[in-house]
Amino acid sequence: MKLPKIRELLEAVKALVVGPYTSRFPRKPHVPFKSFRGQPQFNEDFCVGCLACEEVCPAGAIGHNDAVSGGKAVRTIYHYTDTCIFCGECEAACIADHKGIKLSTEWDLAFFDRNRAFESIDRDLVTCERCGAVVAARRHLQWITDRLGELAFSSPTLYQTKLKELGLIDDNPAAVHRENARSDRLKTLCAHCRRQTTAGA
Ligand code: SF4
Ligand code: SF4
Repeated sequence: MKLPKIRELLEAVKALVVGPYTSRFPRKPHVPFKSFRGQPQFNEDFCVGCLACEEVCPAGAIGHNDAVSGGKAVRTIYHYTDTCIFCGECEAACIADHKGIKLSTEWDLAFFDRNRAFESIDRDLVTCERCGAVVAARRHLQWITDRLGELAFSSPTLYQTKLKELGLIDDNPAAVHRENARSDRLKTLCAHCRRQTTAGA
């Protein structure tokens, strides 16, 4: 007869005193540990739509679709919960301080309709004013502009991203022809006119 090891005996005695290691699910809702690696979730406040998470996902559990129509361009990023292996690579690679997508403690993922096994997030896109091709997500351009500081002004696209963020120009192409609009900013100007065309004062 095989005798139990000391460790197993000790654990059995401990379980008798402090109770079993397992929870009483489904009779009582299961509360996972704080560090439990559950389903990743997008965060509306932080995701900038850069697609770094899609790039690194080893399971192909993140995808996206760029829809451009009627003057509106939107990127929808999908996270497929039935393909995800909860590895956390997306969170590790997220450029938004690892907050755009984060592992949660959500573990109860049973569903009947597999077509609903996803979550998604929408980000506005910036498109090329000449050919209409997608340049990047608007918030991604703002993210780049913020990090580059004044260096961003060497790129007209980033420069205009900042001006739009500040409300100094809008998306209307007619703004090019208005006073204090982009056409003025791309001229050689004295300090006074530069201030007027940039800050409007
Ligand atoms: S946790 Fe891993 S498998 Fe799941 S979406 Fe993130 S990178 Fe992909
Ligand atoms: S900001 Fe983070 S969550 Fe959003 S697309 Fe980029 S890597 Fe993914």
